[in-house]
Order: sequence, then structure tokens, then C-alpha cells
Amino acid sequence: FNLSLERTEKLKIISDLAASVAHEVRNPLQVTRGFLQLLSKKEDAQSQDYITIAVSELDRAAEIITDFLTFAKPELEVVSRLELCDLLDQLELIMGPHASMHGGRLTIVSEEGMAIMGSASKLKQALINLIKNSVEAFGEEGFVELTARAEGGEAVLRLKDNGEGMDKELLAKLGVPYFSTKTKGTGLGTMVTMRIIEVMNGSIVFRSEKGKGTEVTIRFPLAGDIAAAQTAAAALPD
Ligand code: ADP
Ligand code: MG
Repeated sequence: FNLSLERTEKLKIISDLAASVAHEVRNPLQVTRGFLQLLSKKEDAQSQDYITIAVSELDRAAEIITDFLTFAKPELEVVSRLELCDLLDQLELIMGPHASMHGGRLTIVSEEGMAIMGSASKLKQALINLIKNSVEAFGEEGFVELTARAEGGEAVLRLKDNGEGMDKELLAKLGVPYFSTKTKGTGLGTMVTMRIIEVMNGSIVFRSEKGKGTEVTIRFPLAGDIAAAQTAAAALPD
């Protein structure tokens, strides 16, 4: 490094470097995963068990890379108008089975006709990280409930679970990179979620009580407002 480089330039170099390493590593992971699955068909039950573990560990590595990539380079590449209802329907399809597999239930209820500006894949990633945390906090009869509604020009998403909850100290550490209480945690999920919401001009607030559960409130400016304002302006006499 040239020591006279500005801090922001250095950060840009590091984030570009991290992003390209992440992209490069993802490809061989994918290829290895494919070959393992092909091999699995020819093997005895014992070996198939090993292969299943190997595949799920590869998936975990890929997830860590995705989170790390967002950490290094949170900027949105594609910004478009997102219909929240549609996006949340897709999210339910992806994460519903995940919640059931862990002995709980996910419900998503969204008001229709709400749109925000942002990146669909990043927003999904942000919400998936939160839902995963809720599922990982499940006790008996776990539930996680996501509701979305318009409130005062904003889209408000509330995610509520009845999981193990967090005390004040834990809550204060949320979003600190690599902070995790789990043996297989990365401690990147919440931080990534916070950064995505920030770059989408939103806000996020966590409330939690140990032994009771956690509630996350996310607010985004409604894109509909822009459209409505433009329509109203166009209707005005000159
Ligand atoms: P990871 O899930 O890899 O541990 P996160 O950044 O997603 O990393 O979460 C950090 C920590 O915050 C978790 O290890 C857990 O202790 C706590 N946490 C986050 N969400 C919840 C939740 N919904 N219920 C209980 N604890 C949570
Ligand atoms: Mg997590």
C-alpha cells in the first residue's frame, strides 16, 4: 500500500479485494457441491451420510461468504421498485419450510399495494438473516410472525418471535461483527441486515426480553409516496 492513500481509498481497495475473493471462492464451492452430489448416488449409506454433511458444510461456507461480501460491499447494485407483498410471498416460500423443519411456524401477513425502493435480493437476505435468528432461538412451539403495513408514509415491517430472547447486554452487542453466542454462528447476520437496511434508507430497532422473545421493527420510506406526489403535482393547474 502507498501510505499516502486516503483512508476512503484504502477502504475501497479492501472492499473491492474482498468482493473479488468472495466471488472467486464461491465458484469452486459450487462445483465441489455438484460433484459430491453426483458421487453420493454411487455410495453406500454410510458414505452418503458423510456426503450430506460435506454438502451442508459447503452451503454454510457459501452463506458466510455471502454475508461477508455484503459486509465488505453493502452498496446496492440494482435498485428497483419492490412490491412488498410479492417479495414477502417469496420469502414465505423460502423460509416457511425452514421454520417447520425446526419444529416451529412462520407466518407472514402483508398489506397489499405497498412499494419501496431497493434491491430485492438484498432485502430478502436481510429478512432471511432475521428469520434464521428467530428460528435458531425457537423453544417448544416456536413461532415467528412477520407483518407489513403502511403507517404514516412508511412501510413498517414487524418481526416477532417467542424465542429465547436477549438481555440488555446481549442486545447492546447486536450488530457487532463476529459477535455470536452460537457454537456455529458467524456473528455476521445482524450486522449485514443492519447495513442493508441502512443503504435502503430504512431504520431498524430491536426489542427483546430474555425468556419471552424478540421484536424487530423496520421502517422504509414508501415508494408509493413519490408516485402519488408526482401524480398530484401533474394534476395541479399551471
Ligand atoms: P449468529 O446468528 O451467527 O450468531 P447474528 O449476528 O445473526 O450472528 O446474531 C448475533 C447474536 O444475537 C446471536 O448469536 C444471538 O445470541 C443473538 N440473537 C439475534 N437474534 C436473536 C433472536 N431473534 N432471539 C434471540 N437471540 C438473538
Ligand atoms: Mg444469525
